[in-house]
Amino acid sequence: MIGQSQTVRAGAGVAEPAPVARGLRHLIDGRLETGTGRFVIVSPWTRQVVAETPVAGADEAERAIAAARRAFDEGPWPRMLPAERAAVLHRYADLLAEHRDELVRIAIDQAGALLPLAEGWQTGAPLVAAHGYADAAASFAETESTDISGPPMSGQTGVRRVRVVQRVPAGVVTAITPFNYPFRVNVQKVFPALAVGCTVILKPHPTTSWDAALMARLAVQAGLPEGVLNILLGAGPETGEALVGDPRVDMVSFTGSTATGRRIMELAARTVKKCVLELGGKSANIVFADADLDAFFATDPANLKHAGQGCGQLTRLLVERPIYEKVTARLAERMATLRPGEPLDSGTELSPVANAAQFDRVLDYIRVGREEGATLAAGGAVADPTGFFIEATLFTDVNNRMRIAQEEIFGPVLVAIPFDDETDAVRITEDSIYGINAAVWSQDLEKAWRVAGAIRTGNVGVNCLANVTAGPHGGFKQTGVGREWGRWSLDEYIELRAFETTG
Ligand code: NAD
Repeated sequence: MIGQSQTVRAGAGVAEPAPVARGLRHLIDGRLETGTGRFVIVSPWTRQVVAETPVAGADEAERAIAAARRAFDEGPWPRMLPAERAAVLHRYADLLAEHRDELVRIAIDQAGALLPLAEGWQTGAPLVAAHGYADAAASFAETESTDISGPPMSGQTGVRRVRVVQRVPAGVVTAITPFNYPFRVNVQKVFPALAVGCTVILKPHPTTSWDAALMARLAVQAGLPEGVLNILLGAGPETGEALVGDPRVDMVSFTGSTATGRRIMELAARTVKKCVLELGGKSANIVFADADLDAFFATDPANLKHAGQGCGQLTRLLVERPIYEKVTARLAERMATLRPGEPLDSGTELSPVANAAQFDRVLDYIRVGREEGATLAAGGAVADPTGFFIEATLFTDVNNRMRIAQEEIFGPVLVAIPFDDETDAVRITEDSIYGINAAVWSQDLEKAWRVAGAIRTGNVGVNCLANVTAGPHGGFKQTGVGREWGRWSLDEYIELRAFETTG
């Protein structure tokens, strides 16, 4: 049964065996399916199996696409009154909220989230957003009419003309999501797409599709019509590519790495599909010598949130030379004291990375940083081999051309780069293929805003951290295409259609 698993670490390095969640099912064409194959979800805290899912392959992908297409072309969902769709979505959001504790536990067990993160960012915020999208479904304006009488292009004069612009759902949407914030990103795609009348095939990351299994079960209980939401568990890149390339799919909404985003865009280009791509980042945290350092340090600039696994995390620390030594020494001192803790202990600050592949990848980047000649000022080793714990790691004497400064590491690794002045800070920040987030710290507000305005990123915080949940959230350059959260998400899932007539 879902939700019985709870990882409990009983003292230093000792883990109680957790009951494994079995019987998780795909949702295809309104039916929950046991499926075939077996993918094991491993707890990042203990490396123990906590859940098993079936593995969706070509057959499941084919049936899910057919179901979503049929539901869009012939089913009631896109044709319902907005208020009717809203009622179903509110019911669905209510059911998810009733399972909040289970979702929190899943976020801890499958993604390695600490309790406060699991309760807030991973679960609480998306549950609120789900109701917000249900509200938006009710008030979704489908048409706007404009009187465009005047000298028309057709040469007809003196004839009244009216143009009606209609907002229509984009169609069948393939939604593909990453491992770091699984439930959050699933909700972030499924609810706005459904709210405007699209039908959806959701493919979460195989290592974190446990919450999606719960979403599947509750979608049936909520009474979503057949084929409107299809959820495929345990599926990897091959199934993902089938869901992107198929000509019956109208749109792809993807969150994941820039490398996968490029591949998805290539596949989508073959049938000229609309794409929303929320990809990687290497965001700058820019600290001028005149910054209020107490305010800066109060934001915990060590890149520890979710063990550094966030697209918008500030992973390049840019410090003006006069205070570079002071700031990095204070950070290194703090980071060196951090030790792995219990997931349910709200005081724990160092959590594991989410899976074995990520664990190896981050350790490899630490090796690269050493080889490139950066100074290891803190961390750099495995913190506890019981789980996927890596020490909070700080590299100093980093040059922005190093791989550790250019590539997204997606782990608890911070690189600190000195800069000379305002121009240099902007130049280093912009010397990146990414453009998702940034923060600027200076008590000279004119300078701070000048720098903020010169940076090409989707979010910028001035003497604070930007709250990406407020939306619009997304990025410039190779961070992707499109914006999510709030009303901006809704706009991504619609097409505009204009009708014109006389009289
Ligand atoms: P990933 O690209 O490896 O995988 C993401 C999803 O794509 C998974 O479901 C995976 O199974 C699927 N996939 C992989 N190859 C595919 C292919 N060829 N065709 C179709 N699907 C394929 O990313 P990840 O490692 O799960 O997540 C980490 C990345 O996600 C980081 O780069 C991070 O910055 C990014 N991210 C971005 C945002 C944002 O809003 N910009 C938010 C969260 C995470």
